[in-house]
Amino acid sequence: IERIAVLTSGGDAPGMNAAIRSVVRSGIYFGKQMFGISQGYQGMINNEITPLNSKSVSNIVQRGGTILKTARCMAFKTPEGRKTAYENLKHHKIDALIVIGGDGTFTGAEIFSREYNMPVIGIPGTIDNDLFGTDFTIGFDTANNTVIEAIDKIRDTAASHDRLFFVEVMGRDAGHIALWSAIGGGAEAVLIPEKETHIDDLVEKLMVDLKNQKTSSIVIVAEGDHGGGAFKIAEKVKERFNYDTKVSILGHLQRGGSPTSFDRVLASRLGQAAVEGILKGKNRKMVGIISNRIEFTDLTLAIKNQIEVDESLIDLVNILAI
Ligand code: ADP
Repeated sequence: IERIAVLTSGGDAPGMNAAIRSVVRSGIYFGKQMFGISQGYQGMINNEITPLNSKSVSNIVQRGGTILKTARCMAFKTPEGRKTAYENLKHHKIDALIVIGGDGTFTGAEIFSREYNMPVIGIPGTIDNDLFGTDFTIGFDTANNTVIEAIDKIRDTAASHDRLFFVEVMGRDAGHIALWSAIGGGAEAVLIPEKETHIDDLVEKLMVDLKNQKTSSIVIVAEGDHGGGAFKIAEKVKERFNYDTKVSILGHLQRGGSPTSFDRVLASRLGQAAVEGILKGKNRKMVGIISNRIEFTDLTLAIKNQIEVDESLIDLVNILAI
């Protein structure tokens, strides 16, 4: 393997740049020629493939987003699209691929790698922390920090006005951000997609809080919870219970910002391990970190085995909210 290309695909996440930098510099360290593909698989099809040197990735370790840009690409789901992509890689004599993204990105990589016998390693880059084979995905820690910063600010105004706030955070299928930020932000309750939503229980809990003269209450709602999101939940609660209720949807600000130290270090470790792995002949694996050690997991397993939500964290939210 002499020429390695890297791309970012799917949803962006803070720390992707730190991962790109690590991949490029680790490759150069091992004497390889490195290439960047713009706009994920779309750029592979459009032949947006350019050489990257050490300088190309300077001054980006601290930047959110991705300098390579990311895109969703329907054409890569078709054999014709992947054929064009392969011809472009062949034209540049690329002999291995490192993809940074989530389960969709890995699904595409797995199919492409088998079809064209192209070695590929995946790096988990998503704020959702929803991939099996790693304790943490790149961007999760930064997103949690962004969310708790917002919760802290909301808490100030909530406490001043004796208000109940419903704060909606990202997580269509996974409640990890909701759970972590509920604990870190000291929320009174949390609603996540992995659990049924019981409005009765929630109302009862909030009534007890009111009786105990809590000055503010914050309920974290993952966007994919079964109650239909923060606005719907707030409406249902309001029907039952007279309290000044507000809703705050944090939205895309959760995807941006300078990565935390944790995400930068994680991205740097995974980037280097991805390059070393591919040079040692590993193929169709995701590189992750488990109990603080680098581990490789089959892409098919990383995609299929959703990590389960940690029940003890749900208990912790309830214990700390008495
Ligand atoms: P993420 O990687 O964050 O889960 P997506 O689900 O949008 O993001 O997937 C990113 C890209 O991966 C898609 O736009 C598509 O180009 C590619 N991809 C996803 N699923 C497949 C598939 N079944 N076959 C080929 N490519 C796929």
